[in-house]
Formats: sequence, C-alpha cells, structure tokens
Amino acid sequence: MQTTKVTCVICPVGCTIEVDHEKIDGKETVIEVRNNKCPRGYKYASAEVINPERVLTSTVRLVGGSAARLSVKSERPVPKTSLFDCMKEIRKTSVASPVKMGDVIIENVAGTGVNIVATHNG
Ligand code: SF4
Repeated sequence: MQTTKVTCVICPVGCTIEVDHEKIDGKETVIEVRNNKCPRGYKYASAEVINPERVLTSTVRLVGGSAARLSVKSERPVPKTSLFDCMKEIRKTSVASPVKMGDVIIENVAGTGVNIVATHNG
C-alpha cells in the first residue's frame, strides 16, 4: 500500500489530505482518505490519485484576425496522461477568423471525448 499527500485546491483552506491506495486486480484503488475537512476533499483527493485531470488552456494560430493567436481551453478537464497528445494536436491547429467565444476549435481532442473551444472572439 502507498500513501500520497494531496493539497486540496477546492477551497482556500487547502487541506493536506492523505490517500492510502494500492493496485487491486490491476486497478489503482483508494483504501482510505484522511485529513479532509469535508466530503468535497475526499472526492478531489481520490480522483487526484486514481485519475488526475486538468483543464487545458493554450492558443492556436489565428488566420485573418486582429491577433496572431486565439486563446482556447478544454470544455472539461482532460486526463493528465492525455495532456501531451492534446497539446500536440493543438499546436498543429490553425483557425480562420471570424471565431466567436465558445466555438468548437477541435472536436474530441486526442480521442478524449473533450472539445477545445475558443475563449475569446477572434
Ligand atoms: S477538504 Fe474541504 S475544507 Fe479542505 S480544502 Fe478541500 S474543500 Fe476545503
């Protein structure tokens, strides 16, 4: 069994949560969670250990717009293990102006099931 310390970022209290976990039948499994002051911390710390995810923010090349780049982000968090593949796809992408905030720029980025959307008009 392994213990991982996770700093909860859900609220400003910033609890340092300890998660005991081990592989059971080839699958990482949470055994016990300690030091969380509320259930939100339990959920966050468990997910951080089992399947950490992040919202991805970046830019793509913008053709014919007032700026050279357009800022984008993932609609939902993507698994940390997919971030590199997502960035590879984002780096290859260019989009023609006009673009509206919220437009889908890349559908199903790197096969994650998550879309990359514009965060500004361009
Ligand atoms: S465990 Fe609860 S109280 Fe502690 S930082 Fe997370 S959300 Fe805040």
